[in-house]
Amino acid sequence: MPGPIDLHTHSSVSDGTETPAELMRAAVAARLGTVAITDHDSTAGWQEAFDAAAGTGLRVIPGMELSTRHGYKSVHLLAYLIDPDNAALLEETLRIRESRLTRAEAIVSRLAADFDISWADVVAHTAHGATVGRPHIADALVARGVSPDRSAAFRDILHPKFGYYEPHYAPDPLTAIQLVRAAGGVPVLAHPGTRGVENVITEEHLGVLVDAGLFGLEIHHRENTPDAMERLFAYADTFDLVVTGSSDYHGAGKPNRLGENTTDPEVLERILAEGTGSTAFLG
Ligand code: AMP
Ligand code: FE
Ligand code: FE
Ligand code: ZN
Repeated sequence: MPGPIDLHTHSSVSDGTETPAELMRAAVAARLGTVAITDHDSTAGWQEAFDAAAGTGLRVIPGMELSTRHGYKSVHLLAYLIDPDNAALLEETLRIRESRLTRAEAIVSRLAADFDISWADVVAHTAHGATVGRPHIADALVARGVSPDRSAAFRDILHPKFGYYEPHYAPDPLTAIQLVRAAGGVPVLAHPGTRGVENVITEEHLGVLVDAGLFGLEIHHRENTPDAMERLFAYADTFDLVVTGSSDYHGAGKPNRLGENTTDPEVLERILAEGTGSTAFLG
């Protein structure tokens, strides 16, 4: 599996628009050597991804993007090579997914007062059992002709400032890192610099997360701002954290393209050596 390494992608098991099998075919078409499948709060796409990658030469890293929250701020945590059967992690991800469902229903009932949209529309745009999120509500708004595309729906309607928004339950990042480590996984903070340098995690808080087992920072990501990236590189140095780069591909749901940001092979080797909950699949 020589070739580019992309460690952050989504399938229809969460808010990507392609099934895990289609995602693997897209990864092969993009000539990736290694791809991680990291659906939000779910590992349900792993097996289909492995099956689709078989015989293609693609290496698949099993992962997940765990939703966490620190105060009012949503923080995403990539978790590689976790044990998918770990009871504590299963319980927590189930709790998050259930809360996402209740919360999506609440958002839609608020929207229904102002737009021609119903919960059935959202269900129609969500794969069975998928981790539901605002992207599925956006798809329903697009289908109803309210918004031209997902990005516009986020910008013009689903952003918290418009009042339809409702948060969902999520554990604190510290708890999440402890859960991931206890499940044999390797925790990496996803896109930690999307809101500019003034909103980057403090050195003190990061130190606490590193002590709990945080392994890396996803710095090469299109939504991290240049000033935030500069700060994050300094943190990686201070705390000896690995630096990853990834696309955060969502199929047609976002402009992000597979392989637009990549991770160094030496970093991947360190992640592979660190994770004990599951193993990479060599297709
Ligand atoms: P939620 O977790 O339900 O609050 O929704 C956040 C998710 O929506 C993130 O995982 C992103 O992948 C996705 N998202 C955020 N902004 C956009 C956007 N502008 N266009 C498409 N998807 C987005
Ligand atoms: Fe997403
Ligand atoms: Fe994310
Ligand atoms: Zn993501």
